[in-house]
Amino acid sequence: YQAIVLKAYPEAHINQDTFEVVSRPEEPLKSDEFRIAVSHLSLDPAMRGWVSPDPNSYIPPVQIGEVMRAIGVGTVTESNHPKFPVGARVTGITGWTEQLLSNGTGMTVLPEGVSAELALSALGMPGMTAYIGYKDILEAKPNQTIVVTGAAGAVGSVVVQMAVADGLNVVGVAGSDDKCDWLTQLGCQGVINYKTDNVAEKLLALTPNGVDLMFENTGGEVQHHVIERINPHGRVAVCGLIADYHSATPAPAPSWINLIKRRARIEGFTITDHYHRGAEITQGLLGYLQQGKLEHKVHTLNGLESAIDGVNLLFSGANTGKLIVEL
Ligand code: NDP
Repeated sequence: YQAIVLKAYPEAHINQDTFEVVSRPEEPLKSDEFRIAVSHLSLDPAMRGWVSPDPNSYIPPVQIGEVMRAIGVGTVTESNHPKFPVGARVTGITGWTEQLLSNGTGMTVLPEGVSAELALSALGMPGMTAYIGYKDILEAKPNQTIVVTGAAGAVGSVVVQMAVADGLNVVGVAGSDDKCDWLTQLGCQGVINYKTDNVAEKLLALTPNGVDLMFENTGGEVQHHVIERINPHGRVAVCGLIADYHSATPAPAPSWINLIKRRARIEGFTITDHYHRGAEITQGLLGYLQQGKLEHKVHTLNGLESAIDGVNLLFSGANTGKLIVEL
């Protein structure tokens, strides 16, 4: 079977020199193991950080020679594990590989009726991230005004839809008119194309009563204008700063003076701290899903090797919704 291992930490963007495609022989199962044939892989912005040799991140970097880390979905094809019988569909950290052996650590059996696409998007890591940021960090309430950056992405589109469903005034920020049109269809009262609009003017027009909440996925200019317009006791959940992932020096932050004047709060978070609450978070997301208030869009690439160049689509903005590789 084929797998993709890390060959060298990239200087800037991930490229064909970053990874090596290798052929590996099938290993026999140990007494508590099962074999997974991987069918779908998630491509995530965090992957850029996982191939940076920074020992101080929230998760250790992938080591040279190791299979590239990735969340995936697959089917059990052989099993010595009673909880993971042959035919079960599972999700967890599979890595960029066509198959792997697991003892079950970090693996979950997917319930009937949950597609791989749903398991990797609205009900998976991106949806859980959206839920924690929106519910726990922002403590969003009806009638508040929320600005969501990266709004047409995997995480952002879930935040937008929860906020619309809960009766907030939602302003979505994205990098193309097509994405903005989709956000309007999802129920955003206002949209900003940060590449073509005058962000400051548009934000002012769309938030006449200021901004109560911001779900920050990207960094960049919008952040500065939101902090200018943040309301008393406003909150910012810092989920991601994709605009900065390739730069050695992060972009300058907004002026903190408004945090004092408006008694506002900025808080970063990572979903890895909250996986132990998986069942509760899933229940919460299912609530929106079962009411028909949570749709998911996927952008699918084909074949294991498409993952290598595919990651960069997240940074050029060529994906709308969850970026997935189908094997
Ligand atoms: P998306 O599906 O949103 O894809 C990334 C999007 O980011 C692109 O489509 C692009 O959209 C936008 N983007 C890329 N470069 C820039 C830029 N320079 N300025 C502004 N926007 C840019 O990815 P995810 O939903 O998976 O992730 C969204 C964010 O959440 C990322 O920052 C990610 O790292 C973070 N994240 C954090 C987690 C946590 O635990 N804290 C967990 C999961 C994700 P556009 O066309 O609109 O520019």
